[in-house]
Amino acid sequence: ENSPIHSPERQPEDPDAALRPKSLGEFVGQAAARENLRVFIEAAKGRGEAMDHVLFFGPPGLGKTTLAQIVAKELGVGFRSTSGPVIAKAGDLAALLTNLEAHDVLFIDEIHRLNPVVEEVLYPAMEDRALDIIIGEGPSARSVRIDLPPFTLVGATTRQGLLTTPLRDRFGIPVRLIFYTEDELLSVVARGARLLGMAIDESGAREIARRSRGTPRVAGRLMRRVRDFAQVKGAATVSAAVADEALTRLEIDRLGLDAMDRRYLTMIATTYKGGPVGVETLAAGLAEPRDTVEEVIEPYLIQLGLIARTARGRCLNDGGWQHLGITPPESLQA
Ligand code: ADP
Repeated sequence: ENSPIHSPERQPEDPDAALRPKSLGEFVGQAAARENLRVFIEAAKGRGEAMDHVLFFGPPGLGKTTLAQIVAKELGVGFRSTSGPVIAKAGDLAALLTNLEAHDVLFIDEIHRLNPVVEEVLYPAMEDRALDIIIGEGPSARSVRIDLPPFTLVGATTRQGLLTTPLRDRFGIPVRLIFYTEDELLSVVARGARLLGMAIDESGAREIARRSRGTPRVAGRLMRRVRDFAQVKGAATVSAAVADEALTRLEIDRLGLDAMDRRYLTMIATTYKGGPVGVETLAAGLAEPRDTVEEVIEPYLIQLGLIARTARGRCLNDGGWQHLGITPPESLQA
């Protein structure tokens, strides 16, 4: 029962689209990635070629889909979007690829979840812009090569290491997305407030930014919930006090951690005496898939320095004990 409000993962009814930046100039943060992309886009446009294939990797909600759309827009080409688990058969991918216009962007979200047979079809498509199709069956079967228009594949995944090596090697432009700083999220919130027509002062915006788990998608969601509280309370403007009251009622603490984050930390602290404990054991205890623990819960806790991933398992750091307000067992004290 991951708190839906605070989950950085995409949800079906997600109103994210309204807040999506439409150009590189509007896109806040990720300065290194943004400046590199700007160069590659300009170079491809200058040569009149399709841009090289791009892989975005990093935790959910940091802007991978948004950047893929921006790349297409800045290149001035068409954008087609799908996701790894949706492409069931080689023929589905072939249909997508043969329908592309020259220089289009094909975005594949969760590209690490492609079926291996489909992935095999992608290799020659990425490398030689060709499709090898088998026609017929048995002794009369033959392979036919179809040329594809030049295109740019943009893949997204939560971790680069989830991809097979041959797939990873075919992306000329790997781009890592990192958690946003509080100041960057402050800009995201200020921009979102303008778009939503929400009255908020700087202290209120900063309170939301600080508690957004380094993630713009979370910031957007928290803004909407805080706005609801402010409206029902009759607060004309969202101040730090109004934001704090709303976020506290949503069980989001000072560091931006939610109930699931705290259950995770508490389990290591009390059930496993600070660790080390294996990720499978933690996932079973929390009744969450291992992927969710590794890709959604842990990255931010590691970023904050509250836990460490070691060869023998997960351990609580000093900061983790302090945040929980629990004294470590004597055996762990220096
Ligand atoms: P991902 O694909 O990495 O899961 P998205 O690209 O879907 O993340 O981003 C989630 C939402 O967060 C977007 O719809 C957008 O509203 C917001 N967002 C992401 N990056 C930014 C940014 N740099 N500036 C402002 N808003 C952003």
